[in-house]
Amino acid sequence: MSDVKNRIAVYQGNITKMGVDAIVNAANTSLLGGGGVDGAIHAAAGPGLLEECRELNGCQVGQAKITAGYDLPAPYVIHTVGPIWRGGDKGESRKLACCYYNSLKLAHEYQLATVAFPAISTGVYGYPKDQAAAIAVKTVAAYLEEDKSILKVYFVAFDKETEQLYQKELAQL
Ligand code: ADP
Repeated sequence: MSDVKNRIAVYQGNITKMGVDAIVNAANTSLLGGGGVDGAIHAAAGPGLLEECRELNGCQVGQAKITAGYDLPAPYVIHTVGPIWRGGDKGESRKLACCYYNSLKLAHEYQLATVAFPAISTGVYGYPKDQAAAIAVKTVAAYLEEDKSILKVYFVAFDKETEQLYQKELAQL
């Protein structure tokens, strides 16, 4: 796992500033914009992003779709839809893991080497932050073990608590 650990980094800050090949958007099923990180990404990317998203006909929970990054430093945005937390017995963990897995699979298909994730579902969708961090780190680490073409994955935490949760999970790999 040491190689995988070296290919994962944790940042605290604004994901729209990340100069990676793709940033991941925690979108909703319409892909037509929203609040939180979705709103921040659309605001920073400019109106071209929404125009392209309109052509995608939405996205199902756990799936991922890709667009250009427009005015963002990142050339691509991977839009994925996290599950809404409904108590934990409605398949939330599997759906959240799918978000990370399918986003990286799409990055691979587009030959993208560096990807930054926000803490999907942990804002208005209400997923417990500790459980979400565990799923994020474990799913990404397992993926990287199998796919050497993705060189680096960044977990971008907006708050200190989330950053510490990622660090804790990373230390346990
Ligand atoms: P969801 O609907 O999937 O819960 P949110 O956007 O409400 O999505 O929240 C997801 C996470 O993104 C939260 O942890 C939130 O603090 C974080 N977040 C919000 N804005 C940004 C940003 N500009 N950069 C990185 N993370 C952000």
